[in-house]
Parts: sequence; structure tokens; C-alpha cells
Amino acid sequence: AQWEKQVRLSAHPKRSENKVVLVTGAAGFVGMHVSLALKKRGDGVVGLDNFNNYYDPSLKRARRKVVESHGIFIVEGDINDAALLSKLFHMISFTHVMHLAAQAGVRYAMKNPSSYVHSNIAGLVTLLETCKSAEPQPAIVWASSSSVYGLNTKVPFSELDRTDRPASLYAATKKAGEEITHTYNHIYGLSITGLRFFTVYGPWGRPDMAYFSFTRDILAGKPITVYQGPKQIDLARDFTYIDDIVKGCLGSLDTAKKSTGSGGKKKGHAQYRIFNLGNTSPVTVPNLVSILEKLLKVKAKVNIVAMPGNGDVPFTHANISLAHKEFGYQPTTDLHAGLKKFVRWYLNFYGASADGVSRL
Ligand code: NAD
Repeated sequence: AQWEKQVRLSAHPKRSENKVVLVTGAAGFVGMHVSLALKKRGDGVVGLDNFNNYYDPSLKRARRKVVESHGIFIVEGDINDAALLSKLFHMISFTHVMHLAAQAGVRYAMKNPSSYVHSNIAGLVTLLETCKSAEPQPAIVWASSSSVYGLNTKVPFSELDRTDRPASLYAATKKAGEEITHTYNHIYGLSITGLRFFTVYGPWGRPDMAYFSFTRDILAGKPITVYQGPKQIDLARDFTYIDDIVKGCLGSLDTAKKSTGSGGKKKGHAQYRIFNLGNTSPVTVPNLVSILEKLLKVKAKVNIVAMPGNGDVPFTHANISLAHKEFGYQPTTDLHAGLKKFVRWYLNFYGASADGVSRL
């Protein structure tokens, strides 16, 4: 079939030493950028995405156009589709899986809890089941989240800090993912690397995230709502620019050891790792707003309200020394420089009216 031919072409690495990577969530924000970076250096890349409508699917389709123009094919399908996954792994010998497909977002869990179980737990298990039986077994790098630190108040957050007090169902499913992947590592010898991303932002970002919706609403002259933590403390986030996250993804992929199983059986001790990928420099939400005001040259109308108990944590702050030691991870873009690139992309993509409807 035509799609199978496209998958084979897309999976073809430039040189024999290049990797062959399945990127799940390739039409997503991080997935798009990681796919492009892998392809650029010569790796074979096949994407998988279900193009769900958690946020504007036309943005996902626009991202798909970009990656396809670089020779990357995205299969439209769900990570819960065991038959599809098994077919892909029979067609292609993937050396690595970059697993980025997930139900993201903290607040949406109160509206649609089952979507988190579907993608972040059931889908993860389906993917791991396929990887466990694949020949060869791929090494897996997947996106966990800084949200696993939950109610931890010791800053900055280190990988060995407590993660047993999640504050949202999203966080709970990411934490469950860390435990589920550990089990597959232990029993089947799968090489696993979990990456705890800290608030990733940048061009082609997610419309459900604050920096994106603030930009849209400020430009439209609409008021924005800024939450305050307990005792009027401003919320702060360790905003991390997408290019820094991409470097961390590639660095962790390149230092991942091979899986040690075959035929669904473990043959030796396999690698299990977890890394923070953050920026080590938290910024408060009011500061985020004032940077956006300067870049957009528009004054924001701000409503400040007490943080409702909707799963948000008051602050995040990464200690990144482990990722630095293992693969030289070192973020280089500060929030002002990164938002400048985001705003340039936003105005170009949505056009002068900037009402959140793409003119492309
Ligand atoms: P995103 O929503 O833009 O990308 C996820 C993609 O996965 C989407 O395109 C979606 O259509 C796809 N998808 C969802 N469920 C699927 C399923 N069952 N089968 C197939 N495809 C499915 O999100 P993102 O910001 O690019 O996040 C990428 C990963 O990083 C996610 O695992 C997310 O939880 C994690 N993460 C992101 C951030 C951040 O700030 N962006 C922070 C921490 C963790």
C-alpha cells in the first residue's frame, strides 16, 4: 500500500550508523521539533499521531505539513492500536522509540479523566508490549513531566526527591508511567529513559498553555486570568525553550544503552534512567505577562484570582545536574529571547488579526 511505501522511505537512515526512530506524538509540539532535528542529522524517522482534538487539530495538521516537507511521514493512528504497532515493528527495525504521545494538560483532567488513562496508561502499556516483543528491542526515551514532583516543596527539584504526592490526574498518570516503564525494564530488559520536561514553550507551541493563550487574548484585547498561589504568592514556572528540550531529547537518545532482551525475555541488566529537563531559572506568571506586553507592545488586562484547586502546583524549578553530567545538557535560551521567537512565529502563523485562526 502507498502508506507502507511512505513509512519505509521515511524510516530510511542517511548512513548505516544513523538511528531509526519511531516518534509517537509527532504532530504534537515537542514531537514535531524532535522529529525535524532527528531527520536533519540523518536518522530515519517515522511519526505516529492520532490527531485528537484536545486542541485545534488544524495546528497539528499544519505541523504535519512542515515535517512532511522534510521527508518525515506521520502514520495516523493510536498508540492503543496493538495491531498497527505490531505491523510497524514488523516492517521497520526501529533502534529507538521517542515516546511523546500523551494526554497533556493539568486542568483538562477534571473534564475528561478517561483520556489520561487511555493515552498515558493504557496506550503506554500497549506500546511497551509491542517493544518488548520486537526484534531487536528498541531503546525507549519517553516524556514524563515535572508535575510528578506534585506537592514537593524542596527546591530545586532533584530526580531523587519525593514524587508520591501528585496534585493532578495528569501528574498521577505520568508518575504511573515511570513505575510501569520500570517494570518493563526489570522484567523484559527494555532500555528506558524518562524525561521530566519543565513547562516547554516556543514556536508551534500548545494553545492550551498560558504563554500561548495570553498572547492570543492580549492581542485580541481580552482580559487574561492570572492565578495566585496561597498567601498571594505568585505562581512561578521553570519555562524551558523548545530548542533546549530538543537537545536534551537527542542527548538522552544518544546515550541510551541497548535493550538487553530478546523474544520477550530479559538477557541481562538493562538501563533505567530518569532526568529533569528544565531551565533552572523559574519566572513568575506576572513577569511572563510583562515580557509578553513588551514584545506585543500591548498592555494586558489582568484579572488576578486565587488559584482554584485544579491541579496546578505553585512553582517548579529543576535541578539539571544529572542530565548535564550524563549528556552535557545545558539550556541556553532565556524566557525573553525564547518568547521573542514564539511571538514572531505566532504573528506570522496567525496573521495580523492574530485572532487564533490560521491564515496559512
Ligand atoms: P502535544 O499535545 O502537543 O503532543 C502530544 C501529541 O500526541 C498530540 O499531537 C496528540 O494528538 C498525540 N496523541 C495523544 N494521545 C495519543 C494517542 N493515544 N495515540 C496517538 N497519538 C496521541 O503535547 P507536547 O507539549 O508536545 O508534549 C509532548 C510530551 O511531553 C507529552 O507526553 C507531554 O505530556 C509531555 N510534557 C510536555 C510538557 C510541555 O510543557 N509541553 C511538559 C511536561 C511534559
